[in-house]
Amino acid sequence: MNQPQIILLGPPGAGKGTQSTRLAEEYDVDHVTTGDALRANRDVETDHGTPREYMEAGELVPDPVVNEIVVEALADADGFVLDGYPRNLDQAEFLADIVDLDTVASLSVPEDELVRRLTGRRICPDCDATYHVEFAPPAEAGSCDDCGAELTQRDDDTEDTVRERLRVYEENTAPVVDHYRETGKLTEVDGDGTPDEVFTALRETVEA
Ligand code: ADP
Ligand code: ADP
Ligand code: ZN
Repeated sequence: MNQPQIILLGPPGAGKGTQSTRLAEEYDVDHVTTGDALRANRDVETDHGTPREYMEAGELVPDPVVNEIVVEALADADGFVLDGYPRNLDQAEFLADIVDLDTVASLSVPEDELVRRLTGRRICPDCDATYHVEFAPPAEAGSCDDCGAELTQRDDDTEDTVRERLRVYEENTAPVVDHYRETGKLTEVDGDGTPDEVFTALRETVEA
């Protein structure tokens, strides 16, 4: 059997990164995350300016920049979990031309919980591991379990930018979820449980 081709949708803070990492490990496929790729290249000049300007404002980075990242990442992937893409209907259309998806899952989480998750999120700048000060703390406060680097807070995980990202999600990405629902491809998964509970539900979805 070919390796599964999965996309994981959901608002900022829903747990896409956390669950994608686990799914990629479980099924031995690539974890493709546009957010991490853009953060690693945020000061690279493009025809549309640098990704940083958009990301710090909580806006979407222009499609040509993001589409190119996805094409390259998927070109030699034998199976993947795509996390953070597509984020608008044009990206969804672009994706439909290059892959045949097996699973489209969306995570739903109440808004006040999303804000708690995002404002408490900490990341490892060296290996991209994700923590939460309360819900997923590292063994030793402030340093990465995997590589020991000092944890940081993302520039866009401040309360004001979080609100803007949730607005951008409703405007641009919620229609993508509706689109997959209408075409019968979508499985909605409750993202408001423990990471283990959510993972179990996602595994059932992939294997259904
Ligand atoms: P989160 O995990 O909180 O949903 P991401 O790390 O996926 O956030 O994305 C961070 C930022 O990177 C977004 O706010 C946006 O500026 C940019 N970005 C990521 N993916 C895309 C995409 N598919 N299209 C446009 N911009 C994107
Ligand atoms: P996304 O990629 O959708 O923005 P993340 O996976 O980065 O979401 O999770 C956002 C924050 O919430 C992180 O700090 C993470 O540790 C935490 N988190 C993830 N899943 C859960 C969960 N099921 N319960 C509580 N906190 C969670
Ligand atoms: Zn690390």
